Amino acid sequence: MVIAETLIKQVKAGNRRALAQSITLVESSRADHKEQALHLMDGLLDKNSGSIRIGLTGTPGVGKSTFIENFGTMLIKEGFKVAVLAVDPTSKLSGGSILGDKTRMELLSREPQAFIRPSPSQEFQGGVAPKTREAIALCEAASFDIIIVETVGVGQSEVMVSEMTDIFLLLMAPGGGDELQGVKRGIMEIADLILVNKADGELKSTALRTCADYSGALRLLRKRQIDPDDFPKALTISSLEAIGLHNVWKEINLLKDYRIKSGIWVDNRKKQSLDWFETELKRRMIQKFEKDIEFLNKKNDFREKVWNGKITPERAAEDILKII
Ligand code: GDP
Repeated sequence: MVIAETLIKQVKAGNRRALAQSITLVESSRADHKEQALHLMDGLLDKNSGSIRIGLTGTPGVGKSTFIENFGTMLIKEGFKVAVLAVDPTSKLSGGSILGDKTRMELLSREPQAFIRPSPSQEFQGGVAPKTREAIALCEAASFDIIIVETVGVGQSEVMVSEMTDIFLLLMAPGGGDELQGVKRGIMEIADLILVNKADGELKSTALRTCADYSGALRLLRKRQIDPDDFPKALTISSLEAIGLHNVWKEINLLKDYRIKSGIWVDNRKKQSLDWFETELKRRMIQKFEKDIEFLNKKNDFREKVWNGKITPERAAEDILKII
């Protein structure tokens, strides 16, 4: 476990190269790497629980990278260390990673207090790379204060990201009522802040109107008992001109302080850890069975019976579980 031991020391010291190597290690599917990765994560258990994990979603072109660039730079100026993890479910289809594009967040990537990691897309149901949770924990162990997990809202990825973060931001473009119709209700329900971007120049008045529409729509949603009365809320910002970004930070902290006081913040993280455990257990159980020759042979027998209409699929599933 020499590799893991060395990485643990270096990650704890905030070494960004070691952090990148560690994420690569946990993403590896090689058996010896998996063993090392487990050891690595053991050694970094629950470091820096004072972090803020921020999920961010929005359609391509809405301004996510511009937002992260300027918001991240602002946070760094305030003395924070900022990590950006990208969950990119589209890269498998397009053959190249949009979020991994080197030209994105150019200024931020040059900051020594920043860490930007595009996610390699792996085959995974729902399109989310399976090791984002580990990557978040690794960034925290390397003393990053703010972890931004970015996703283009394809499929269920935004729900998954919301389930591994503390605060969820939805970036929207200015537009008429038609746009509002197109917003999935589910995503409005998981967002803590809806940020109507591009509230500058010619688009400013449209952005203000769009923001008012969203505010109205949010009021119609079922109230969350756990949050202050006026959350979730909609705000206008200009990522490009860095207008309203301090306000976003202020609102995030308002919500954080409120949730910490009420105990929700910590509870939510504990619940997320349990969900993580359940997901991991299910994944490993399936993997284990898929490698078990005896199980596979039995399964093949049952497949044949199902194929020939000798047994109902439900009965086949029931029987095979009884045998093993
Ligand atoms: P992403 O695909 O969501 O990451 O979007 P980008 O950050 O790459 O932005 C897409 C385009 O919108 C770029 O041309 C940006 O310059 C532009 N853009 C982003 N934010 C703003 C903004 O606040 N105002 C204006 N006017 N343009 C913006």
